[in-house]
Amino acid sequence: GFKCGIVGLPNVGKSTLFNALTQTAAAQAANYPFCTIEPNVGDVAVPDARLDTLAKIANSAQIVPTRITFVDIAGLVRGASKGEGLGNQFLANIREVDAIVHVLRCFEDGDITHVENRIDPVSDADTVETELMLADLDSLEKRIKPLEKKANSGEKEAKEQLALMMKAVTLLRDGKPARNVELTPEEKEPFRQLQLLTGKPVLYACNVDEGSAATGNKFSEAVAAMAKRQGAGAIVISCRIEEEVAQLAAEERTEFLSALGLEEPGLNRLIRAGYDLLGLITFFTAGPKESKAWTVTRGSRAPQAAGVIHTDFEAGFIRAETIAYADYVAGGGEAGAREAGKFRLEGKDYVVQDGDVMHFRFNN
Ligand code: GDP
Repeated sequence: GFKCGIVGLPNVGKSTLFNALTQTAAAQAANYPFCTIEPNVGDVAVPDARLDTLAKIANSAQIVPTRITFVDIAGLVRGASKGEGLGNQFLANIREVDAIVHVLRCFEDGDITHVENRIDPVSDADTVETELMLADLDSLEKRIKPLEKKANSGEKEAKEQLALMMKAVTLLRDGKPARNVELTPEEKEPFRQLQLLTGKPVLYACNVDEGSAATGNKFSEAVAAMAKRQGAGAIVISCRIEEEVAQLAAEERTEFLSALGLEEPGLNRLIRAGYDLLGLITFFTAGPKESKAWTVTRGSRAPQAAGVIHTDFEAGFIRAETIAYADYVAGGGEAGAREAGKFRLEGKDYVVQDGDVMHFRFNN
């Protein structure tokens, strides 16, 4: 599955946020079996109102959302790149995730120590990013030496890899994260395989005081400006509120949230933002047995989508019967969409679109 790692300095609200996520996941688990939760890993359903609409139209007995994984990665302190705190363990954990949710402390509270004795989320972000850049530089420099020998002896692959690494090194030495590297389409996969910490997409989660959950505050505004400069995402969330919401029964939630000026739990926005950050889109299957949401990477073709459901589907792929979500709804289901001429037969080169309702034909 796809994984988002939750990082941040100590005492910024990571555990609070993660607990809210796992409690939500645990609540979801009652409805959706097969949800395994490890101490620092939460597997959560991606909230998607379209799925409920489809299930109603298709008269489905079951609704099965798609899921992503959040991992709580503790242990980041200044000096982590030099092994301070949980240094190496921390770095190893973060290498394994596909995207990073960076929690920033945007609340004031004299009772809760800030490790640097000040509330300044932009500097905090900088402290964390610096550690990650130092760790990337260190790991690249270690890998470059042996690679240079191979490249000098004329190995083409080594030469290419070296050139890619040098692009990242140049940026990092200049104090910029590796995600700013400009890549050709062919370089994307080799770049991903370098597993650079600052090569992963980032979403800043501004943990604000309860009173600012709906509006944000001066701290979250500063973070939003920074995120914009970096081309990163940012959301405002109150981890405290989320922790309380997660403990409420479903029917109490709406009232509690609307009293705070909120339409939905911040976690829903966080989960969806994480999903976007990972470059993921959803396609659906709908029928009387179940309506189900499935995840593919944006840009995936129909056979890959079929392969998410079952590997046999990909190998024996013939075609995908496809109806766009809006057409499915407008037609009141498959039959109506067919009548309206919105039912398409798509072949192996079809690029799956977010919201496609699909049915695969395959040989076995
Ligand atoms: P972590 O070290 O980043 O995992 O931080 P925790 O989630 O353990 O939070 C550190 C402390 O800050 C705990 O006592 C939390 O209850 C508290 N905290 C978290 N979010 C908020 C918030 O929005 N407002 C206030 N006042 N305290 C918070």
